[in-house]
Amino acid sequence: MPEGHTIHRIARDHGRLLAGRPVAVDSPQGRFAADAERIDGAVLDEIEAYGKHLFYWWSTGEVGHVHLGLFGKYRVHRTDEPPLPKGAVRMRLRTTDDGDPVTIELRGPTACTLGPPDERDAIVARLGPDPLRADADPDAAIDRIARSRAAIGGLLLDQSVIAGVGNVYRAELLFLHGIHPERPGRDCRPDDLRSIWETAVTMLRAGVKANRIVTVDRNELDLPKGKRIPRREATYVYQRDRCLRCGTPIRTVEVANRTCYYCPEHQAR
Ligand SMILES: [Zn+2]
Repeated sequence: MPEGHTIHRIARDHGRLLAGRPVAVDSPQGRFAADAERIDGAVLDEIEAYGKHLFYWWSTGEVGHVHLGLFGKYRVHRTDEPPLPKGAVRMRLRTTDDGDPVTIELRGPTACTLGPPDERDAIVARLGPDPLRADADPDAAIDRIARSRAAIGGLLLDQSVIAGVGNVYRAELLFLHGIHPERPGRDCRPDDLRSIWETAVTMLRAGVKANRIVTVDRNELDLPKGKRIPRREATYVYQRDRCLRCGTPIRTVEVANRTCYYCPEHQAR
């Protein structure tokens, strides 16, 4: 499942292409057809990202909601004549003005709906703060974790605690702060929780910028200058055989039904 940096990057990239322009909206597959009709031809004011959710603010006053889930994918076409939609295109957005033509197709999302702003607010109210948003309140996440007897590895994946962190960032955050994934939230020092938040902000911002996850400091790798960091080298513990820093074999533990990678040397119980 994409983590928050991917969602924010989509909002930014697609927003640059579509915001402020009238957009033809349809649903070649049909499942979004009734909603699409209500906004077809409206101006898209803004695409907003919140955790793993996207919100489309339309000039009609309604707000579209998309959650990609495991299988959702966008495709962008920047040609005069977009290709005939192939497969199950749930939502299709096409510019209709004289600017550069853009068609964006959405396939396979978990959610694709349209409703009043209240519905968007209700979804956001269930989410914890998102480290990528300027309006995020870190204390909301820190207090939740500090009061919980649940494992911190599970709390970091819980979107109602902190929005946008997924399995890769979870493992890397815990490694960098030397915390075992099964340590109860309330046994973590508040100072550590605050620095985990700050690291999450830095990591996720870097992810938006690079449009991929790279959590390592490239100075710790033996890489020729300017060479792109290969995917298997881009993390300290996630999907690695050995810890990048100490060479200890990486272990895994199931926390919140997802495999969490950790270094037993750096992250003692
Ligand atoms: Zn280690």
